[in-house]
Amino acid sequence: MIYLDYQATTPLAPEARAAMLPWLDGPDGMGFGNPHSQHKMGRASAAAMEVAREQVAGLCPPGGRVIFTGSATEAINLALRGSAPAGDRRPLAVSAIEHAAVLDTAQALGSPVATIPVNGEGIADPQVSLPAGTRLVALMQVNNEIGTIQPCAELFARARSIGALTLCDGVQAAGKIALAQADMIALSAHKLHGPKGIGALWIRDGVQLTPILTGGGQEQGLRSGTLSPALCAGFGAAAALAAERREVDHSHVERLWKKAVELLDKRWIINGSSEHRWHGNLNIRREGLDVARLMSDLRDLAFSAGSACASGSGRPSHVLKAIGLDSSEAKCSIRLGFGRYTGEADLEAAARAINAAADRQEMT
Ligand code: PLP
Repeated sequence: MIYLDYQATTPLAPEARAAMLPWLDGPDGMGFGNPHSQHKMGRASAAAMEVAREQVAGLCPPGGRVIFTGSATEAINLALRGSAPAGDRRPLAVSAIEHAAVLDTAQALGSPVATIPVNGEGIADPQVSLPAGTRLVALMQVNNEIGTIQPCAELFARARSIGALTLCDGVQAAGKIALAQADMIALSAHKLHGPKGIGALWIRDGVQLTPILTGGGQEQGLRSGTLSPALCAGFGAAAALAAERREVDHSHVERLWKKAVELLDKRWIINGSSEHRWHGNLNIRREGLDVARLMSDLRDLAFSAGSACASGSGRPSHVLKAIGLDSSEAKCSIRLGFGRYTGEADLEAAARAINAAADRQEMT
């Protein structure tokens, strides 16, 4: 199997796995303590979580704190819901290409939601007029479907100038590029070679949130529920490794991108900007392609249909629609995602197999 679905999830780094094991059982079988217990085992687990917190904070701007959550989806919910004073109906502004975690949560709050449009290249307009009294502006840094890098700095500066809070979905950017200066940043471990089931919300000092999960008051009173020290340790190790390997990973991805673009048949069209893009995302379309058939012909390749909303909901892609593709263009799109552990030879083999399978479709 050649894995080309890095935007859906990434392989666990061996270093992250190694960091997790002591907190599942440990060499003496006593690493499973509750990090909120006062005894030695609890304190050891808590200390491991604090190390992990620092490692995750290392990916974020200075001047804030990391709150661990069960996923980036939960972190986004905490940011959007927890920053809304009860009964507040001031408008929100969110980009048209946000993940469902942002779009659906913003809608669920009951406030007016203004959509920040994107151009045909998949880049949000940072000069868009923000509704008077906007409470919060959300813009992701790297889009999960087409990989485009968004003008967060410009839009957030404008949001700040009108007194709005800023939320950056940093899930696909963390560990790859420097994260934007926002009031809140959502992260997910499994997108950066950490384990599934853990995310984080980075919160700038001074930003006040109300918890959305109440109970034991863990995570500085903002997120009740016992966290898994193993998942935190895995997230921390993955974050530290991503920071350490950023240049190496980046050069590797650039090489892979060049190779894939060179090998893919010229009838493939790249969806979204090639320039302002994380190059580990190649979302492409070819006229008339039957994607379901392509996927069934290429069972040893793991990749995504570009037309299905990549949140896994099965909804049609709002991102391809937002960049102006009609439904037939969206339907003939696929997403190839690659990164640190993708071998050049594997990517070459995949590109050739994809070309050949698409050619076969044209002949029959
Ligand atoms: N935001 C983006 C851009 C994503 O790609 C994803 C996952 O697909 C999420 C948020 C949600 O992350 P999680 O799986 O941790 O809830």
